[in-house]
Amino acid sequence: MSMFQDIRKWYREVTAYRVVDSLRKRGFEAFYVESKIEAKDLALRLIPSNTVTIGVGGSVTIREIGLLEALSDKGYRVTHHWIEGLSGDESRRVRLEEINADVFLTSVNALTLDGRFILVDGVGNRVAASAFGPKTVIAIVGFNKLVPDLDYGLWRVKNVAMPMNARRLKLDTPCAKLGYCTECQGTSRGCRATLILDMKPSMTEHYYLILVGEDLGF
Ligand code: SF4
Repeated sequence: MSMFQDIRKWYREVTAYRVVDSLRKRGFEAFYVESKIEAKDLALRLIPSNTVTIGVGGSVTIREIGLLEALSDKGYRVTHHWIEGLSGDESRRVRLEEINADVFLTSVNALTLDGRFILVDGVGNRVAASAFGPKTVIAIVGFNKLVPDLDYGLWRVKNVAMPMNARRLKLDTPCAKLGYCTECQGTSRGCRATLILDMKPSMTEHYYLILVGEDLGF
């Protein structure tokens, strides 16, 4: 490892431990790992042994680290709505199953240095399941989602996360074309519900957050 890589690694670690410490004070069970492979392995280890059903929210990160395939290989009943051709009713049913699963997997759109995080949603199912429903939530968060405070986090949601997600979803929104938010109010708007978690929601038994020293998701 070169001296420059060494310094980058040091910076990521000291920053990550500051965030992990803040998250733990807020009731989250937080960890830092360097790579997405370690994140996938840790997530699999954190799933309680009596788990039958796992719901997966709309998250590029969860797919990017290969967790979906690993869960199926282990025989879990995995529910997620990123399936081509679902009717409106089917999509609603699948999303409700995600909220009712034993474990919910997601990422977040911004994580502050003092341990709060923000999720944005168009339908609301991910926001709902991240706040209430499954007894265990596991959030996996790339280093690119770290922000200094909530104001910057809310800016990031609209001007970093949403433009890329809108483009991924081929939404007809200004941010998908311009790369920044114009506060549109058309029917294609993708950001309709925003959740800020200040502390672990009281009825969630285990709320794990794995911060990863790599860029993941949007
Ligand atoms: S309000 Fe419209 S333009 Fe702004 S981030 Fe949301 S979808 Fe994009």
